[in-house]
Amino acid sequence: MKQKFIDLHLHTSFSDGISSPEQVAEAAEDMNLSAIALTDHDTIEGCSHLEKYCINKGIEFIPGTELSVDIEGNEMHLLGYFLDIENQLLIEQTTIYQQNRINRIIELVERLNKIGIDLTADQVFNLAKCKAPGRPHLARALVKYGFCKSNNEAFSRFLRKGSPTWVPKINANYRDGIKLIHQAGGLAVMAHPGLNNIDNLIPNLVDAGLDGIECWHTRHQKSTEKRYREMTIKLSLLATGGSDCHGPQKGLPIIGTKQVPYEILEMMKQKVASSAGSLL
Ligand code: AMP
Ligand code: ZN
Ligand code: FE
Ligand code: FE
Repeated sequence: MKQKFIDLHLHTSFSDGISSPEQVAEAAEDMNLSAIALTDHDTIEGCSHLEKYCINKGIEFIPGTELSVDIEGNEMHLLGYFLDIENQLLIEQTTIYQQNRINRIIELVERLNKIGIDLTADQVFNLAKCKAPGRPHLARALVKYGFCKSNNEAFSRFLRKGSPTWVPKINANYRDGIKLIHQAGGLAVMAHPGLNNIDNLIPNLVDAGLDGIECWHTRHQKSTEKRYREMTIKLSLLATGGSDCHGPQKGLPIIGTKQVPYEILEMMKQKVASSAGSLL
């Protein structure tokens, strides 16, 4: 039987992705994916839209999100899977996180204004056209209004952590993030650990109820993928994976390129089923 593949880390225009849910579903079909999860930053708003397109195409859909959380002064990303997207607390809390994102854009723009960059927060919000704006939208606005030649330049000159015009975002504590995902019926997974350098804090995450680690990721090398897969076995955690696609780049698809086997999803489903009711 032909092997089935999945992609469990995708963004749409409901956060900082450039593709609409419909375009993501079409790309998933083109890549012959059997299942996909939507993990937009701090929002679940796109899930109902993408689910509709996936149902039409016979692609299995997992509602998710990617929360920015604080762990001992570091920002990390926490993926949530199998979420009840009608869960009231999840809706309320993600609305607060979105407001923190909006406030941060206003602060970032103020910093840029102080160094003579004449951009307004509304220009960024009008370009973002979503409730969860982020630095990539600001980077696109800096390019659109002629202050930078590329998104990369915008990040390296103004938006990267450590730049004088950078400001931190207020994030929820990781324990609260994990609890929020669990109370909405979901699994909590540490995103792209290879990009974070906080492996020493994985025991804290496990203590807080972490369910899995994202081992396959576009920016993980094979050796990184292997290291985290071994770690998940040692710690009895789920190994998950996805492309973290924010849209096609230079015309090429990124969605589905990590070749995550469908069996990974089956293990996740077993854990959700066995955790139901015991995670609160
Ligand atoms: P934010 O959540 O607003 O802090 O923005 C974080 C997002 O910006 C990440 O999820 C990436 O999609 C993107 N990003 C972070 N660093 C860079 C970079 N150096 N160049 C381009 N995009 C980046
Ligand atoms: Zn992003
Ligand atoms: Fe991330
Ligand atoms: Fe992501």
